[in-house]
Amino acid sequence: MSSTVLVINSGSSSIKYQLIDPASGSSLASGLVERIGEPAGHVEHRTDGRVTEQNDPVPDHADGMRTVLDLFEKVGPALGDANVVAVGHRVVQGGKYYDGPVLIDDEVVGLIDRLSPLAPLHNPPNLTGIRVARELLPDVPHVAVFDTAFFRNLPEAAATYALDREVAEQYNVRRYGAHGTSHQYVALKAASMVGRPSAELRQVVLHLGNGASASAVYGGRAVDTSMGLTPLEGLVMGTRTGDIDPAVVFHLARNAGMSIDEIDDLLNKRSGLKGLAGYNDMREIHRLAGDGDAAAALALEVYAHRLRKYIGAYAAVMGGIDVLSFTAGVGENDPEVRASAVAGLEFLGVEIDAGRNEARSKESRFISPDGARVAVLVVPTNEELAIARQAVSLL
Ligand code: AMP
Repeated sequence: MSSTVLVINSGSSSIKYQLIDPASGSSLASGLVERIGEPAGHVEHRTDGRVTEQNDPVPDHADGMRTVLDLFEKVGPALGDANVVAVGHRVVQGGKYYDGPVLIDDEVVGLIDRLSPLAPLHNPPNLTGIRVARELLPDVPHVAVFDTAFFRNLPEAAATYALDREVAEQYNVRRYGAHGTSHQYVALKAASMVGRPSAELRQVVLHLGNGASASAVYGGRAVDTSMGLTPLEGLVMGTRTGDIDPAVVFHLARNAGMSIDEIDDLLNKRSGLKGLAGYNDMREIHRLAGDGDAAAALALEVYAHRLRKYIGAYAAVMGGIDVLSFTAGVGENDPEVRASAVAGLEFLGVEIDAGRNEARSKESRFISPDGARVAVLVVPTNEELAIARQAVSLL
């Protein structure tokens, strides 16, 4: 029987999970526990094309994990018969410690905890998921896969902020990046699609979801990325500003009387597409722009302008581009954004075929014309499968 990996992504009020066969890439079950700690919880378990739902309160993560394990027993597939060889945990921040997956022991738990100041919204709930799952599934190895790992070995010139060195060192201020599991997965898949070894490819990966990030991958290795100390820097996102003059923070503190927490909330949760046009969902922005809403039209322009800037910057960093890949919710589904992101970049060899770009598909595909200098691709990301494969790679 083939082996499986249970992949867990534990957030502040949710647990997402998937049981995956890493060899075939098939998903045997997946689900979601939401609204943990709220008066009404919600649990969804999918297997064999069936969805089982529950709406009982889920007081805490331990209760949520127990519910998930019960559903595997009652609805299937029974974990006892699924040959689960590892539990793979998504962890956002691995700091300077991890450039790949690691088997979780008490020391690793301690380090993830110590890194929490760098990812206060993510590492603590990731850790809660790890603690609970280790208690409930003590006989299987647990593996942490870090969002930052692919960017751990960025060239120093790309990772270093031009900040006072002592302050930077004392407080661990540097570019860590994020979405690394997705960037790595897409870059590998893209290399296999163009049929050339990654070693000779200059790739730009655009992960455009609710969070959005760009990376430059040269010879299979990340050489730059748009997210920084935290996932706030870089591209325009659903609710985050991306790049902004840090002096905006001082200006608002001094002149608008806003506290640091209020500015943090503004930049992370009330900006980006939502701040510009009222909605964080790209489909709403298109709908509004189509109805003549000027703010939504401008939001689309700001979004595309930032993308073109990053593509150009990464072409300069690598001395050209061979492959440009779009992934995640917007990148995989939005032909208009893809077209506007590359408009005017023919001078770099970047061109798309309108028919290919607009064709609907869930598959990885080329959207550049045959014979184009740069292969432009849509590559659906699969972070869960990447986590499962990285977990088994350690065993
Ligand atoms: P993700 O974070 O990768 O799950 O992406 C979620 C985002 O993808 C949503 O907030 C939408 O903005 C966007 N999205 C999903 N489907 C579409 C679509 N068909 N067209 C444009 N944007 C989409």
